[in-house]
Amino acid sequence: MRSTLPLPDLLDIISRIVNHRDCPVGILDDIPAEDTEVRALCQQIYELRQAMKALSSGKLDVQVGSCGCIAAYLRSIIEMLRGIEKAIKKLAQGEGELELSRLGELSIYFELIGKNLQEGRRLVDKYRSLSLTDMLTGLVNRRGFHSLVEKSYARARRKGGVLSFVLADIDRFKMINDTYGHDAGDEILRGVAQRLLDALRMEDVCSRYGGEEFLIMLYDTDVNRAALIAERLRKKVEEKPFAAGGEEIPITISLGVTELRMGAKTRGGDAAQECRAEIQRAARRADAFLYHAKRTGRNRISTGPSDPSPVP
Ligand code: GH3
Ligand code: MG
Ligand code: MG
Repeated sequence: MRSTLPLPDLLDIISRIVNHRDCPVGILDDIPAEDTEVRALCQQIYELRQAMKALSSGKLDVQVGSCGCIAAYLRSIIEMLRGIEKAIKKLAQGEGELELSRLGELSIYFELIGKNLQEGRRLVDKYRSLSLTDMLTGLVNRRGFHSLVEKSYARARRKGGVLSFVLADIDRFKMINDTYGHDAGDEILRGVAQRLLDALRMEDVCSRYGGEEFLIMLYDTDVNRAALIAERLRKKVEEKPFAAGGEEIPITISLGVTELRMGAKTRGGDAAQECRAEIQRAARRADAFLYHAKRTGRNRISTGPSDPSPVP
């Protein structure tokens, strides 16, 4: 490995990367661009230092991304860095010489770590997606719903749009379970989820929000249009009985419908927090309308832009 830098300058740079706790970000710019190999190596050492710093301060994405053997690679690299440090000290005292070619071995470990990190990330993505999915129906669960809707909210907020929220709940489902058994109940939950999903658009989000409750976000839809869609969903469930446990079981749902309207806002404040609070408020309003629908006879929708009037 060759460098156009005088050896003491090069050693000074490596020493600063290896030894200094807060190594300056621009340190690699001190290496001439034509010293590509030395630059690449110092870059790797620098990144390793940053990764180790992140790990030692408990940064989750570095920990989560790493598989078991990364620890072993890191140990090997730390050993090598110690060796380099000793060699640098000796050189500073005018003894010995630093074999720059030995530093090249480091890149093998970096490559292995890179591969492991990729595999780790793939697993993290897989488990993240599982943690957002309801296993019975395949819909997103409550966490998945909030995660997707927060993205839609951010999009809608930029142009001062409107979202609607529909909370659907199966009527007298406890009695269905008691009469036909829990397995039939599960089949019905899957069937209802499918019918809701079939009637919605790609940009809408349909979640299993709780036991027999489905919370739906209708993108760019005001409350009047949402009421029509909710009525269509209600009819889709009612129109044909569900085949479950060898029986044909009639099912109905009740739905609470509300909208979340936003003016185009300037940047400022904690947007993520505001978004979460707004969505939660809208979900609570949809729940209040659902309660209203249940109290006024079930198998119906109840809707309005603000809170429902109290049921006597
Ligand atoms: P309402 O019309 O007022 O909504 O009455 P309900 O019977 O549907 O409401 P309730 O809250 O009394 O009962 C909900 C039932 O949903 C009870 C619970 O056993 C059932 N349930 C919740 N999750 C599941 C599930 O994963 N599978 C099955 N089979 N049943 C479930
Ligand atoms: Mg119910
Ligand atoms: Mg319920």
